[in-house]
Amino acid sequence: MSRVRVLDDALVTLIAAGEVIEHPASVVKELIENALDAGATHVDVEIQAGGIDSIKVSDNGSGILSEDVPICILRHSTSKISDRADLDSIATYGFRGEALATMTAVADVKIVTRHKTEDIGSQLIARTGEKPVVHSSNRSAGTLVEVTNLFSQVPARRKHLDSEKVEGQRVHEVIMKHAIVRNDIGFRLVRDDIVVLDCPEDQSSRERVALLWGSDIAKNLVEVNHRESDISIAGFIVRPPVSRGNRGREYFSVLKRPIEDQRLSKAVESAYSTLLMSSRFPICCLDISPPISHVDANVHPAKREVRIQNIDELVSTVRRAVKLALDLETPPEVTDTLDAFVDEDIMPYQRESQFSESSDRYEETLVEQQSFGEIAPAADILHLEEVGGVFRIIGQIMKVYLLLEFDEALVIIDQHAAHERVLYENLRKQVNEGETVVQELLEPIVLHLDANDAERILELAGVLENIGYSVSSFGGNEILVSSLPEILGKRANEDELISLVDRILDIGEDVTEKFMDDLLRVTACHSAIRAGQTLSNSEIRKLLLDLSKTPNRYNCAHGRPTILRIEREELDRRFGRIGVAYFKRYKARHRIEDDSEY
Ligand code: ADP
Ligand code: MG
Repeated sequence: MSRVRVLDDALVTLIAAGEVIEHPASVVKELIENALDAGATHVDVEIQAGGIDSIKVSDNGSGILSEDVPICILRHSTSKISDRADLDSIATYGFRGEALATMTAVADVKIVTRHKTEDIGSQLIARTGEKPVVHSSNRSAGTLVEVTNLFSQVPARRKHLDSEKVEGQRVHEVIMKHAIVRNDIGFRLVRDDIVVLDCPEDQSSRERVALLWGSDIAKNLVEVNHRESDISIAGFIVRPPVSRGNRGREYFSVLKRPIEDQRLSKAVESAYSTLLMSSRFPICCLDISPPISHVDANVHPAKREVRIQNIDELVSTVRRAVKLALDLETPPEVTDTLDAFVDEDIMPYQRESQFSESSDRYEETLVEQQSFGEIAPAADILHLEEVGGVFRIIGQIMKVYLLLEFDEALVIIDQHAAHERVLYENLRKQVNEGETVVQELLEPIVLHLDANDAERILELAGVLENIGYSVSSFGGNEILVSSLPEILGKRANEDELISLVDRILDIGEDVTEKFMDDLLRVTACHSAIRAGQTLSNSEIRKLLLDLSKTPNRYNCAHGRPTILRIEREELDRRFGRIGVAYFKRYKARHRIEDDSEY
């Protein structure tokens, strides 16, 4: 084995580079942070090929003093801290003095800058493996950093980059995360010569969120402004059911530094609790301000995480803040019990005991009889196909389950799951037969999406067309929807479509048969009767009849059960009508002395 030796500086930098710079987006993040630290009020980012070929970030900040230019690219060179005490109260984004040094180790870097106190600026060119060259140059006060050929000399890292599109989207996300908390700063992003983001300086936080997330989400913003002991929390959450299929729109920042922290995500999610369906995630942007001395931003090389004293307290404060904001939004539902009893559609069964001398009309509703007719037999544990005969609708409970009495059994149906299956099979059939039923919208709906989402939806336009969605570009990030699958029915409105688009985008990248099927599932799920929806008896009857004619009716399109059946025997056993308890009582009553066990 070779002898132990101390690595030279260039090699150390290269090894460390992987931690600071993983993607073009990490370069952009570092450059934005430098611009902000330099007091810029506007940051302009231009990328080519997702930033893999080139990244340019220019700002109108202080600029770099000409004598500092050759130094700023050295490792551990920073103007932001000078002694140990500074580490306890870092107010700047940068301080490790690594970013520029790392960039010059893994890419070609050009810096053009002029400090606001100097007349002449400088230009530095540092090509990987070559000695940097500095010239004088002209430009307005501020700095432009250009990073090209990222990882061209480090094939192992270059190999790990994703497609240009994915890398480009990452860059976009990084800018969004900064832009959303720094609504005082102007940001612009140009992707392959197209302006995809343009935020003016000094917007209100609400205007900024609307611009970044689209006006449809913005309509559902709920402001959070909470202060508890020495922690304050400010920002927005989004009113349910507007939500997302992943955590991609849970934005957190601590003292305006964008961070990622599972504990914060969990806290917000638990505050939403049952307001969102499972597998849906909240949308929020929250800036958390604990005392600056409680924050250690020095724990993650790419500064994605920070360490915070009393994190548990902070997490529960966030949870309370969100819960409070949601509670104010949705006052607890007050049900008038009397009304509930009298409303014939809700609880016909209950009424039976209430109105024993019921009129004929009541009789009619109460003893609801339906025939399942021609249900094909299937070897299924749920046995509903035996429902050749008659069943009685007991009613709806908890606004989600339908209860039926049938053939000495209690049958429970999940209204959403059941309807989802009906719609899915229906849609599948239409697609197979090439006859999709479409609703043309008299007034097309315009959706304001964010640029990434708009781009992706337009890419999918061809596939979407197959089941009746027609979407086209309406300029900028706006999408024009002119027709929809008919089953969406009344859900053909902006708010519903925004969350549907979200679910479609969550399906994934590759447009294969699987995508098509998922698209059908999502469409069916979104169109289906939901939990929380009160159904009238005739609606229940219609659903049951449709279900009885639907293949695969025992599971919803996502695999959850639709129907449960509890046999009378099971009920009898649980109530001690049969089984051990019953015989024990029987023996006691008849004074039978017998030790045998049943
Ligand atoms: P850090 O940000 O941790 O100090 P960097 O390597 O990112 O380290 O930058 C090194 C130094 O270069 C900074 O401390 C700052 O003085 C200077 N600098 C970098 N970018 C800019 C910029 N856009 N405007 C002004 N100064 C800059
Ligand atoms: Mg920096």
